[in-house]
Amino acid sequence: MAIDSIKYKRILLKLSGEALMGSEDYGIDPQVINRISEEIAQVHALGIEIGIVIGGGNIFRGAGLSESGIDRVTGDHMGMLATVMNSLALQNALENQGMKVRVMSAIQIHEVCEDYIRRRAIRHLAKGNVTVFAAGIGNPFFTTDSAASLRAIEINADVVLKATKVDGIYSADPVKDPSAFKYDHLTYDEVIERKLAVMDTAAVVLCRDRKMPIQIFNMGKENALMEIVKGANIGTIVTA
Ligand code: UDP
Repeated sequence: MAIDSIKYKRILLKLSGEALMGSEDYGIDPQVINRISEEIAQVHALGIEIGIVIGGGNIFRGAGLSESGIDRVTGDHMGMLATVMNSLALQNALENQGMKVRVMSAIQIHEVCEDYIRRRAIRHLAKGNVTVFAAGIGNPFFTTDSAASLRAIEINADVVLKATKVDGIYSADPVKDPSAFKYDHLTYDEVIERKLAVMDTAAVVLCRDRKMPIQIFNMGKENALMEIVKGANIGTIVTA
């Protein structure tokens, strides 16, 4: 397929740490990370530029650690380092699929990966290197959702593709409420006002201010990523 017939030419894919757990309750399931990497490789083969932000919730989250008595800022540092571990695992899995990959961290860890430098990130993307943005935005009290919005805006991505475990944004929790229905389209303000807990508010506000579309979809659904970059509205799209 020619790149012209593709809707999104540069994407920012947000994967939660939990997406890597599969059926486990901690860490990374190799089968899951390999399957995700295969799907990313198919999209990459179309010539699409791919930035990825990965979370750390499968290992540590600052808020959870603080409940168990760890100082919140320390906990958030641990959470950010967890995202670096996930980024390295993803780099490895993506390289096994034949792609060139760079991990860029918002916290300096030179022995392990590059620093995040915006212009260098854009250069990597233009050269066709999949670029994984690690350590969130590098500051405590933020999440990797905010990092996804921020990096998407910085690299001039066409869209934030947020992979979740559900098929999109629902009016209520579909597991608890059988009358819950899925929205195909929402505005940023609707997501914020209706408190549709799909991405944290700071992340949605950032996208709203820069008119960055957010597509919420289920990465567990085979080929969803491919269909979306070709233009299908799978899941829910959030725009102005
Ligand atoms: N975190 C942070 N600043 C950031 C991004 C992440 O302090 O800019 C910490 C925070 O403790 C967070 C953890 O890293 O809970 C893991 O990220 P997140 O919860 O977003 O991961 P996900 O839910 O996507 O797996």
